[in-house]
Order: sequence, then C-alpha cells, then structure tokens
Amino acid sequence: MTQPAPAVIILLGPPGAGKGTQARMLEEDFGLIQLSTGDLLRAAVARGTPAGLAAKAVMEAGALVSDDIVLAILKDRMAEPDVARGVTLDGFPRTRGQAEALDALLAASGQRVTAAVSLEVDDAAMVDRIAGRHTCATCGEGYHDSFKQPAVAGVCDKCGGTAFKRRADDKAETVAARLAAYHAETAPLIAYYAAKGVLDRVDAMGPIPDIRAALARIVGGVAA
Ligand code: AMP
Repeated sequence: MTQPAPAVIILLGPPGAGKGTQARMLEEDFGLIQLSTGDLLRAAVARGTPAGLAAKAVMEAGALVSDDIVLAILKDRMAEPDVARGVTLDGFPRTRGQAEALDALLAASGQRVTAAVSLEVDDAAMVDRIAGRHTCATCGEGYHDSFKQPAVAGVCDKCGGTAFKRRADDKAETVAARLAAYHAETAPLIAYYAAKGVLDRVDAMGPIPDIRAALARIVGGVAA
C-alpha cells in the first residue's frame, strides 16, 4: 500500500493573528511539525550565521528578508526527517515567489499544499495583541499581558520556567511596518491559494480554543 503524502498546512495571516499559537496546537492535536521561518531566522541571527547576519537589520526594521535567504533556510529544514510527519508552515510563504518555490519543492517529491488557512483578523486590534505578548524562555509557551497570563504570576504553566522573553520586533513602530509588508506582499497569497482550491478562512478574532476547534475541523478533514 502506498503511504499517504504528509500534510502541508499553511497558516496565512498578519503578525499577531495567532499563527504561532495555532501551529503549536496543530502539533499537539495532529503531530504536525511547526515550521516557522521567523523562528528559523531568529535562530540564525542568534548563532551569527551569514544568513542571520544578513537578515538581522531587515527583521529589526519589520521588512521581509529576501526570498533567497528564506528559501535556503526553509529547504534545509524541510530536508530533516521529522518533516515526514507533516508540517504546519507558520509565516511562510510570505511572497508570491516563495509560494511558487514551495509548490516546486513539494512537486519534486510528488506533494502539494494540503490546505492554506487564512486567519482573518481586524488590523486595528493587532498592535495591542502584539505589544503585550511574550514567551517562556525555556519552552516557548506564549503569553500575553492582558489576554493570557500564567496561572501563577511569573511561572510558566507548561514547564515551570520563570524567565520570559519579548521579541525585539514587537515594538509599535516595527509592528506597523510588518503589517504593511503583510498587506503588500502576503495578503495576495489568499487569492493564490483560493485559485488552487485549497483555501479556508477562519475568523481569528475570537477565543483561542474556538480557533483551535475550527482549525481541527479543517485539518482533520484533509490530513492523513
Ligand atoms: P515572524 O516570526 O513570522 O513574525 O517573522 C519575523 C520576521 O522574520 C519578519 O518580520 C521578517 O522580517 C522575517 N521573516 C519571517 N518569515 C519570513 C518569510 N517567509 N519571508 C521573509 N521574511 C520573513
């Protein structure tokens, strides 16, 4: 019997829409590996690799890193064995060029995008959502000053860690640039995936468990 192709789920949406949160939940619910180009780039910056050095200033300005750099990092990660379990792409693709390169990469192994889900939010609310967010420095669990605090102040619910970190590009002025980049470069991908018949839209303004349930219905219907 032939094995079903691993699912490739894309989460589209502006910064603050909840892509990272939901990608982690899809990992828990379906075993899909969360693959965040933002995380991969931040790791490259922290390690001081040539790609990281080239990307650092661009990321701090809230602009998009070049397709060449992002695609090189993505391809390396997609070549790792755990990806065979299926992936959720969080923050990739962000340009038409990246979307076409992803199609070509998947086609080379007889795969295609399984579903692209647009997390639909009200732009005006995004700055507040982003401004208060932070993660556990140990396990990466996400929190928010107003919307999601740990049960015990200063202690991660998941791992008990007591150190938290905030992203350098979550400042209000950088967030505006990131939203502008989303509308100019990434929002057109909604039509790109609609034309391929793989687009779903989810209202992402409501409670996190509702969004998780909506995504589970979509992914449960298409993932092997
Ligand atoms: P994120 O963690 O997805 O919000 O990404 C943080 C920053 O990394 C973005 O503002 C971009 O500068 C860069 N970045 C992440 N993913 C991509 C991508 N697919 N294409 C271009 N730049 C990216």
